[in-house]
Amino acid sequence: MKFEEIAKYLERVEITTGRIEMINILTELYRKIEDPQDAAILSYIILGEIHPPYKGYELGMSEKLITRAIAFASGYDSSEVEKRLNVLGDIGRVAEEFISKKKQKTLFTEVLTLRKIYNTFNKIAQTTGEGSVDMKIKLLTGLLINASPLEAKYIARLADGNMRLGVADMTILEALANAKGSRERKPILEEAYNKYPDIGEIAKILYSEGWEGIQKVDVTPGIPLRPMLAERVRSPEEAWEKLKGRLAAEFKYDGERMQIHILGNGEVQIFSRRLENITHQFPDVVEAVKKHVKLERGIIEGEALAFDPDTGDFRPFQELMRRKRKHDIHETAKQIPVTLRLFDLIYDGQSYLKKTFPERRRRLEEIIDENELIKVSELIYPKTLEELKKFFLLSVEQGFEGLMIKSTGPDSIYQAGNRGWLWIKLKRDYRAELTDTLDLVVVGALYGRGRKAGLLSSYLMAVYDPENDVFKTVCKVGTGFKDEDIMEMNRLLKPYIRDRKPARVVSQMEPDVWVEPAIVLEITAAEITLSPIHTCAYNQIEKNVGLALRFPRFTGRYRMDKSPEDATTEKEVIEMYQRQKKIVVEGE
Ligand code: AMP
Repeated sequence: MKFEEIAKYLERVEITTGRIEMINILTELYRKIEDPQDAAILSYIILGEIHPPYKGYELGMSEKLITRAIAFASGYDSSEVEKRLNVLGDIGRVAEEFISKKKQKTLFTEVLTLRKIYNTFNKIAQTTGEGSVDMKIKLLTGLLINASPLEAKYIARLADGNMRLGVADMTILEALANAKGSRERKPILEEAYNKYPDIGEIAKILYSEGWEGIQKVDVTPGIPLRPMLAERVRSPEEAWEKLKGRLAAEFKYDGERMQIHILGNGEVQIFSRRLENITHQFPDVVEAVKKHVKLERGIIEGEALAFDPDTGDFRPFQELMRRKRKHDIHETAKQIPVTLRLFDLIYDGQSYLKKTFPERRRRLEEIIDENELIKVSELIYPKTLEELKKFFLLSVEQGFEGLMIKSTGPDSIYQAGNRGWLWIKLKRDYRAELTDTLDLVVVGALYGRGRKAGLLSSYLMAVYDPENDVFKTVCKVGTGFKDEDIMEMNRLLKPYIRDRKPARVVSQMEPDVWVEPAIVLEITAAEITLSPIHTCAYNQIEKNVGLALRFPRFTGRYRMDKSPEDATTEKEVIEMYQRQKKIVVEGE
């Protein structure tokens, strides 16, 4: 397929401000595709990737390199291109502009196809070592020389890894379901994708093997699955009632979630909650797993905690983040050793997704040879509510976050990528009135005044509504940010700033700038109130009214481990509101 045709669709997606319209355009595009491989490539490219993120391919093209390729292809000086980039802030628009006024006209231009773009980017990703920078620039220049201005816009953005379309994986799944059946089939695609989150592979299977093929997709060592998520309650009583006393309770550890894959050839891979391959940060965990996990091939899950080897005490979550920055990882691993608390088993040669929690746990206990570095999580099967309460206090006393309470019923399967009542979190009190913190997504920002003039210093925050795959606003927050946080926020938000409302954001407020949903922050607040301006729970509690946080405050914790789709959901906020109301009424 010609890339020009695709670029026209991408442009239509870019300018639409409605999600339904966006899906319709993408559906139309997918209907034009026949070849399974093209469907795969297209899906990656729409997301600004050439491989699924867990493979960890880096194109290695900084803005500077892309700028140079644009300069070569258009015959202008790099400094001119850079100047324009400082004004426009979007490498795509810069490429479009310079290619449209390029100095030397090429005599024989090659027609760019989807395959050509993909193959060239693949080459760019694989080019390493001496002379690789020049080679990468040369390859990109080759594409830009043959590109129309519109094509150049999306080629440059692909090189930058940011297509600025506001399309997420769920949006693509919906368009694929439409194109090859109907919207009603999206859950089938979603289930397959949760077990095998490679958008290209899923598209390819759908185009080559149809819905039957999609239903056969299962977990596979080496391919991270989307993690199971938990609902929340505020008291042990509530959890007990929800699960009718059929439950297990575990300490909730405050560390980093790890999905550990044992590949069968002796290799171990570790994936983060966001499915990034983080194996290289944890050589010590790899060694411990090789020694102490008795599995040929498998997938297990747990929480990694930093600890002090002298005292055996656990260290704060932030310490683990230092592992991301350090170059000499073996040295850091010695300074900040980690210990694993494993809490689930997903694969041991066969898939355990459909087995009950007690079965998975039993198997997990069988295959771990426990020691200081690797243990199963602390767990009880309480027979009474009293026992559950005591265990909660014990967890808090020992400095943990609270409990994870898990159903042990016949339906207690591992729900990849889903939040449900099979897992429930019960967190300790944060001594705010609203006892829970929320993880909210930045969707807009406003400039400050005085000392903070010119800096984006308050932020429009949103919850996620997974049913409609949109983000709905719930507060504006400017409290709790230290000066260095504001600098950090301005740096973090820069690539996501937009001049029109991103299609998946639902908002009645107009911030100074819009922000593509990407950054998640932990927020506390005094309470949840009815609000005429915020769109969270709009029309769901009362007509023309939504819910908002009163006196929101940033806790200082950036939730980089969460993607925007992992943020607190609209439904959770409604439940928190209703619980809060109940307490007020009861207290009256
Ligand atoms: P939250 O990040 O607040 O949504 O809480 C859910 C997270 O708690 C999971 O993603 C895990 O990283 C973490 N966690 C800690 N201990 C456990 C446990 N025993 N079982 C499951 N998850 C746990």
